[in-house]
Amino acid sequence: MGKADKSNLLNKINQIEEELRNLNKEKGDLQEGCKHSGETYLAFSTEHRNSIRVYCSDCKKELRYPSQEEITEWIGKNK
Ligand SMILES: [Zn+2]
Repeated sequence: MGKADKSNLLNKINQIEEELRNLNKEKGDLQEGCKHSGETYLAFSTEHRNSIRVYCSDCKKELRYPSQEEITEWIGKNK
């Protein structure tokens, strides 16, 4: 990989990171506007692997830890 290619790569990476930052901010703003009053679902956390969380079905925001009952029911459904 030449010098020009390297800085080209870095530019691309920086550009992607900038876009991700903007998109994440936009996502956060949208989730901020959600009342999280509708349906919820359980899923593995994207940040904490092997850890289950409750998510808002409308905006996919991580809301809280599930109760033991919710986990048991979820595991039963995903067998
Ligand atoms: Zn929500």
